Amino acid sequence: MILGGGESGVGAAILAKVKGHPVFLSDSGTLKAVYREKLETNNIPYEENNHDQEAIFSADVVVKSPGIPDNTPLIKALTEAGIPVISEIEFAGKHTNAVIIGITGSNGKTTTANLTYHLLKAGGLDVGLGGNIGHSFAEMVAVAPHEYYVLELSSFQLDGIEYFQPDVSILLNITPDHLDRYDYKMENYIASKFRIIKNQEEEDVFIFNTEDKNIVDFLKNKEILPSAITVKMHTDDAKKIRIDGGVDFDLTNTTLKGIHNRFNAECAIRAALSQGVSAEDIQRGLEDFKNSPHRLEVIATIDGVTYINDSKATNVDSVYYALQAVDGPIVLIIGGIDKGNDYGAILPLVKEKVKGIVCLGIDNEKIIATFSTLVEKMAEADSMEMAIEQSRKMAQAGDQVLLSPACASFDLFKNYVDRGNQFTAIVRS
Ligand code: ADP
Repeated sequence: MILGGGESGVGAAILAKVKGHPVFLSDSGTLKAVYREKLETNNIPYEENNHDQEAIFSADVVVKSPGIPDNTPLIKALTEAGIPVISEIEFAGKHTNAVIIGITGSNGKTTTANLTYHLLKAGGLDVGLGGNIGHSFAEMVAVAPHEYYVLELSSFQLDGIEYFQPDVSILLNITPDHLDRYDYKMENYIASKFRIIKNQEEEDVFIFNTEDKNIVDFLKNKEILPSAITVKMHTDDAKKIRIDGGVDFDLTNTTLKGIHNRFNAECAIRAALSQGVSAEDIQRGLEDFKNSPHRLEVIATIDGVTYINDSKATNVDSVYYALQAVDGPIVLIIGGIDKGNDYGAILPLVKEKVKGIVCLGIDNEKIIATFSTLVEKMAEADSMEMAIEQSRKMAQAGDQVLLSPACASFDLFKNYVDRGNQFTAIVRS
């Protein structure tokens, strides 16, 4: 029984079918046309806008979409009835002997997963990219198997594993996020992230951040089985990476900007080295790497002003690293739906580098109150067009206009992608 007909659910259904299991997919909402078609092409029975209780409770195993919380009545009832509820990651992991590199953390997962994938490819390895990004892991295992998989893993996906065992795990950082799914207890969220090493053994590798207090505190007085590779966030030079053996990597000719990306890159490099990719291939891979859009993405330089799209920065921590990475003077476009933001951490950087702020949101009161005494110029905008017009007025040649909103986008945009796409299109036009 597959619950949820998105990328992961449909992939799991296809894998079940390929392995000869009788399978049924149930979604309480409406399926996207592309997934409906896939189910039909593969002759997989399904229902939408409904959960057939009898069918669900007759299952031997339920594969649940990571979007369904564990505390919904249906999932609780399944657990009470003794029916195993697992994630697509667990299910696909059972059906492959490939080398798996699993990547989790609160921030930087997509960047690190993209880069790790790219470096393994640069080394000539047969590798697939999946999990939270790209294709469903289960569907790849079913129809387009690879020798290596790089998987971006959210805490929700890790909650649904039992025996899943990555050969290499990367834990980037743990900062408060999604606490509504963890009884508002940080320790529950931390424990969820650490499930990534739950089944790792001596021959496996665990790469983690030694400057993250939540990670370090959790590991205190604990014995872990996999070989530990520790990586630091802060170093003297954001453009250089020195690996223990004295091998140096240079980020000067790459799009990876800022100390956070140096850190992400070091994690990816260490994962690639652990799989035998050569230093030359890695350096070449670093230089032709292009990250997913909306992450410190340089769009254009117009009249000497550079426009940067960091729409994915939906929390204060991300804006902190964006401000670290971009040279001043900066005109910052910030705002949207505040998720209880505490801007304290970015005040010194705003004071040092930001000359003007454009508040992009319906309710800008908190941003105005927080920053108006720190910057020379402030303006409000209720559309991307207006925000760019205001920024253009504030900026002079040599300045950078940075869209790094610290907030969710739903007041004025469909999502962060829509926000970033509008920024990009208007700047280019
Ligand atoms: P995720 O997939 O975990 O959301 P992304 O790679 O998409 O991560 O990056 C999301 C945001 O987090 C970006 O705006 C980026 O500036 C910030 N970020 C990226 N890597 C790190 C890191 N190692 N530590 C803190 N913030 C980071």
